[in-house]
Amino acid sequence: QAGPNDLQTKADRLVQMSICASLARKFPKVTIIGEEELPTDDVTEDLIEDGHCEEILKKPCPAQYTGIKEEELVIWVDPLDGTKEYTEGLLDHVTVLIGIAYGGKAIAGVINQPYYNYEAGANAVLGRTIWGVLGMGAFGFQLTEAPAGKHIVVTTRSHSSALVNECITALNPDHVIRVGGAGNKIIQLIEGKASAYVFASPGCKKWDTCAPEAILHAVGGKF
Ligand code: AMP
Ligand code: MG
Ligand code: MG
Repeated sequence: QAGPNDLQTKADRLVQMSICASLARKFPKVTIIGEEELPTDDVTEDLIEDGHCEEILKKPCPAQYTGIKEEELVIWVDPLDGTKEYTEGLLDHVTVLIGIAYGGKAIAGVINQPYYNYEAGANAVLGRTIWGVLGMGAFGFQLTEAPAGKHIVVTTRSHSSALVNECITALNPDHVIRVGGAGNKIIQLIEGKASAYVFASPGCKKWDTCAPEAILHAVGGKF
């Protein structure tokens, strides 16, 4: 535990070690920044993932990115976004975020939701991966508009403050959804559950925002 509002579990540590070590092995020149401060050299072999997704490699790289060098990229990793909710058993709030930045701009991202469908019964496929690239689009979900004529705001569940709440009240929304996780809140937007994500507070870091920002922009949203 790093603090009452900033929890860290064994899952946060193991997932980060797996993602960062696997990426570093495959892309040694990329800068990889994970949320948790962890040693990088004692990762066991069973945590190394060396597969790849055929579906992604079938799509042509957008022309503006074909000349990018590995060393020009920064990968932001949030191994477990929504840790507070994870510790409370709200498993579908949890996401794993991997964002790619180039020239300080979020250009691609992955939002993995490991417990998607966890309450949908034994026949449902558990977990899903949403990913996107600027100029290519975003995949792994059904892009849906929020209900027309309604202002539905999605915001924090566990990091509220007077300012956060006053700001939402001032917007006079028709409805407010309070859920954990920056990744999960962007999912609420792209699946049409909410029209805006509003959080008037410090707290979110680049590992929270890089992947969500890229995916939102890839489908024409504004971060
Ligand atoms: P939330 O919307 O409260 O689930 O927060 C989204 C992300 O931002 C999570 O990764 C949180 O850990 C982080 N975050 C937001 N506010 C704070 C805060 N006040 N202190 C620490 N982390 C925060
Ligand atoms: Mg986070
Ligand atoms: Mg986290």
